[in-house]
Amino acid sequence: MDKGKAFEFKETDMKRNTRFDEILSKLPVDFKNEINEADKFLKSLRSLRFKRTIDKHGGKISYVASDYGFSYAFRVIHSEYSQEFNWYIVYNGKPETWHRRADYMEETLDEISKNKTKLSEYIFNSLIKCNNCHGERCLARTIYAFNGQKKLTCHGRVTLGIKNSDFECAREFIQHLSVLVERKIINGDPPPEKIILINTKRSL
Ligand SMILES: [Zn+2]
Repeated sequence: MDKGKAFEFKETDMKRNTRFDEILSKLPVDFKNEINEADKFLKSLRSLRFKRTIDKHGGKISYVASDYGFSYAFRVIHSEYSQEFNWYIVYNGKPETWHRRADYMEETLDEISKNKTKLSEYIFNSLIKCNNCHGERCLARTIYAFNGQKKLTCHGRVTLGIKNSDFECAREFIQHLSVLVERKIINGDPPPEKIILINTKRSL
């Protein structure tokens, strides 16, 4: 990399950090501290390689692990304070082309339930029920089975509040997901397959 490019990269990076700090400076101190802690934690997970992005209006800070199609985000508009994670959908093009990566939601929950039954149940219960959100028979609707129960949720979407315990739950879930991914990498498993939404089974 030549010197000009290195400088350019640093400059952009700096701007990004300034915007991040500006948004955080307007948040309640507890929320701000939790996001900072999450930021450090997510950057420490080598296998998932999270990239931080902020939407145009500064209302949502997202961490995206694109190799695994996973996203973890904070809504930072006052009336919407919350956090969520899901296996995101790529919407460019016609609905026939909408896709996402195969998700590890069930595998992660099974893994967690070996030692932390309460946490796995809490996350399963926090999966948001599909409400025909992408049209009737929502294309993103996915069946999730856990502990003998089944649920229809859009692309593994979990929404949590912003209490300290919510942040701990989210971090613990992502920690387990990260260990699962590391194990798959060591085993030489192929990357998660691309799923075309229109081809999926979307009813119980
Ligand atoms: Zn839906």
